[in-house]
Amino acid sequence: MIYDTIAAVTTAPGKAAVGIVRLSGPDAFSIADQIFSGKSGVSVFDQRNYALAYGRAVDGGRTVDEVLLLKMQSPRSFTGEDVAEIQAHGGSVVLNRILRAAIKKGARLAEPGEFSKRAFIHGKMDLVQAEAMADLIQADHELLAETAADQMSGALTDIVEAMADKLLDWTAMLEASIDYPEEELENQENDQWREGLLAMCSEMDGLLLSLDRGKIIRQGLRVVLAGKPNVGKSSIMNALLDEERAIVTHIPGTTRDTLEESVLIEGAPIVLVDTAGLGETEDPVERIGIERARRAMEGADLVLYVLEVNKEIDREILGEIKALDPDKTVILLNKMDLKPELEWERTLCYLTWGWDQLRVSALKGEGLDRVARCLRDRFLAGTQNENGPACLINARHGAALAKAKEALVHALAALDGGIPLDMISIDLRQAWMSLGEMTGSVSDEDIIDRIFSKFCLGK
Ligand code: GDP
Repeated sequence: MIYDTIAAVTTAPGKAAVGIVRLSGPDAFSIADQIFSGKSGVSVFDQRNYALAYGRAVDGGRTVDEVLLLKMQSPRSFTGEDVAEIQAHGGSVVLNRILRAAIKKGARLAEPGEFSKRAFIHGKMDLVQAEAMADLIQADHELLAETAADQMSGALTDIVEAMADKLLDWTAMLEASIDYPEEELENQENDQWREGLLAMCSEMDGLLLSLDRGKIIRQGLRVVLAGKPNVGKSSIMNALLDEERAIVTHIPGTTRDTLEESVLIEGAPIVLVDTAGLGETEDPVERIGIERARRAMEGADLVLYVLEVNKEIDREILGEIKALDPDKTVILLNKMDLKPELEWERTLCYLTWGWDQLRVSALKGEGLDRVARCLRDRFLAGTQNENGPACLINARHGAALAKAKEALVHALAALDGGIPLDMISIDLRQAWMSLGEMTGSVSDEDIIDRIFSKFCLGK
């Protein structure tokens, strides 16, 4: 297949010291040569590979900017094609003029993700690596950037490819037993097959388990503030966000819905969710709010259950606390500035024993540093690596891997059911195909197009 030459501004819009226009395709050098006039007089064709040439970007005889031109010859470039990159001053007018000049000379404006798609087509990276690269660009905190960078370098691809290779070998062995039954390949002990399949299933399980971790890495730790109306949930959320976003009021029950804010706390991405106060109510709108609050608590990675130190804990609250998972709950004793009586404090401690507790005063801003540290620690604990270096941060990868595992489970059942080994090769082939969908080696074109179209323009 012959590709045309595409061009785009690859740097972010806005004003910057430097901006880049990239050309990729068979005419990249000839187009670059027509819009670039090198100071040394050397044409782009004669310019050394990977060397920068200084000169002017020109359009219709007029100088657009003083620029540097980087030449990268196929196949050793990002896309695997001939690539010319013009580094100009980073103003949109300058960059767009250079881009227009390139288009006038025969380049086509690249679609979003088209450079990356060509890199994929030319075998420079697989889908897992391409998607990781997009995640790396979008990453807003370090752990996501690190995980994405590992996957971009092939950490996950290597694991998946090793599994796919093994599946292919197994399928070949089984299929050979159909073609050459006299070779008696079926004499491979069933137990041996079972062992191999189980080992691969458990490897896949390890990766699938990492999806929860990956979700926290990608989306941040989901922290829900819960408790009765007026205990200070909004005040705590505001204090943590350091800005007055939620309505802070002393009229009970005004936060009727949930309110979400994403924030980096001590470098950890946290999604704070303020909920309607829990409690009995006749008001239908409030009841909806409470229902949503309960749902938010169920979906939380951590519940910050807020109590007022100067209020009695009634049976309802106690029941509520006891129903929560202690591993996913921290009790915040708020309004410490109101100085609870010692006796009362003892009772409170006794009643909520077994749950992590932190004492705060949202009003005075006391104890919030400990809450912030606790959230960061919980984020780190939630993302800790227990199953080796790989971690799935992409739901599409999870779905493909789950499908592969399902096929292996089917193969195991067939094995136990005494179905002939050669029949099992169909399941193994299915598992291999699912892994291929993950890496893109057997993906259909629509899926590939859909993935790359979500990339940024110029990537
Ligand atoms: P929510 O309904 O749980 O979200 O509670 P709010 O954050 O709206 O607070 C209810 C009332 O308690 C407001 O009048 C706040 O000013 C007050 N409040 C919140 N935190 C504290 C605190 O630490 N100490 C004191 N004394 N009052 C607080």
